[in-house]
Amino acid sequence: MKVGVVGAGLVGATAAYAMTLRDSCSELVLVDKDVKRARAEAQDIAHASPISHGARVSSGNYASLEGSKVVVIAAGANQQPGESRLDLLAKNAAIFRELIAQITQAAPDAVLLIATNPVDILTQLTVQLAPGSAVLGSGTVLDSARFRHLMAQHAGVDATHVHGYVLGEHGDSEVMAWSTATVAGLPIEHFMKERGRQWTADIRSEIEAGTRDAAAAIIEGKRATYYGIGAALARIVERIVGDRRAVLTVSAPTPEFGVCLSLPRIVGAGGVQDTVMPNLTKEEKQALKASAGVLKKAVSSL
Ligand code: NAD
Repeated sequence: MKVGVVGAGLVGATAAYAMTLRDSCSELVLVDKDVKRARAEAQDIAHASPISHGARVSSGNYASLEGSKVVVIAAGANQQPGESRLDLLAKNAAIFRELIAQITQAAPDAVLLIATNPVDILTQLTVQLAPGSAVLGSGTVLDSARFRHLMAQHAGVDATHVHGYVLGEHGDSEVMAWSTATVAGLPIEHFMKERGRQWTADIRSEIEAGTRDAAAAIIEGKRATYYGIGAALARIVERIVGDRRAVLTVSAPTPEFGVCLSLPRIVGAGGVQDTVMPNLTKEEKQALKASAGVLKKAVSSL
C-alpha cells in the first residue's frame, strides 16, 4: 500500500517516520520543492525501515506519487511565535493552488489528507480545487489527543481509556465538548466524584486552555510542533488504507455548517464514510456554530 507525503518538512517527515515505525503502509514517497531535503529525509527514514517493518521509503517528484492510496499534504509555512493559524492562510492557499493539480494529475484516485494550516480552510480549498478526489483534513484529531492527555493526567488513568472530542476549527475557536468526555465509560464528572478526585471549574478551564494553547506553548519552546501531528497523520492514514472505520475528529465538508470543520467521523476506505453528531449541550452547539462562523469568514476571504 503506497502513501505519498508532499511537504517533507518537520510535519511531513515526522508523519513518514511514524508511518514507517507503525507499519502504516508498505511504500512511502516524499515530495518537496526542496528536493535535497526530501531526499535526505527519505534516506534517514529508510534507515529505520529494516529495523521496523521494512517499508520502501524514497523521495521523488509529483509523478512518483502515481498509485498512492493516500497523499498527505504538509507543504507550506508554519506558525511563527505569536502568529495564529489563520495568519498563514494567504501564503499557504497560494502554495495549494500550485500543488493540488500536480498531485491529482499524478494520483487521481488518492485520498488527499491535508495537514497544512489553517487546516480547515485549506481542506475546503482542496475540495474546490480537486472536485474528483476524496478530501479530508487532520482537523482536531491532534486537539482531541491533547484534550484526552490532559484529562487522563487528572483522572490517573491510561489516556487510551479516556475519551472526549474537540470539535469545530483546529484553532482558537475550537470547542472542547465536555459532554462527550468519558473515563472507563463513565461521564468524566461522575468518574472523578466516584474516585474522590478533584474536579472543579478551574481544572476544566485549565484543561481547555492547555488544549487550545498547546501549539503556541510548544512553538515558543521549540519553534514547531510535529510529533503529535505526525502520529495523528499516521493513524488517519492507517484507518483509510485498512478500511478500519475508526471514529476520528477529522475535518470534512459539513453541509449544515457550510464549511469544512471537525466532527466525529467514521474514517475508512475512501476517507470519511459518515459523521456521528454528538449529543451536545445548548452552549456547545452555540460554540460550534460560532466556530463555523469564524471558518466561513476566513473562507470568504480566499
Ligand atoms: P516546515 O517548514 O518544516 O516544512 C514545510 C515544507 O513545505 C518545507 O520542506 C518546504 O520546502 C515545503 N514546501 C513549501 N512550498 C512547497 C511547494 N510549493 N511544494 C512542495 N513543498 C513545498 O513546516 P512544518 O513544521 O513541517 O509545518 C508544515 C505545515 O503543517 C504548516 O502549515 C504547519 O502549520 C502545519 N501543522 C499542522 C498541524 C495540524 O494539526 N494540522 C500541526 C502542526 C503543524
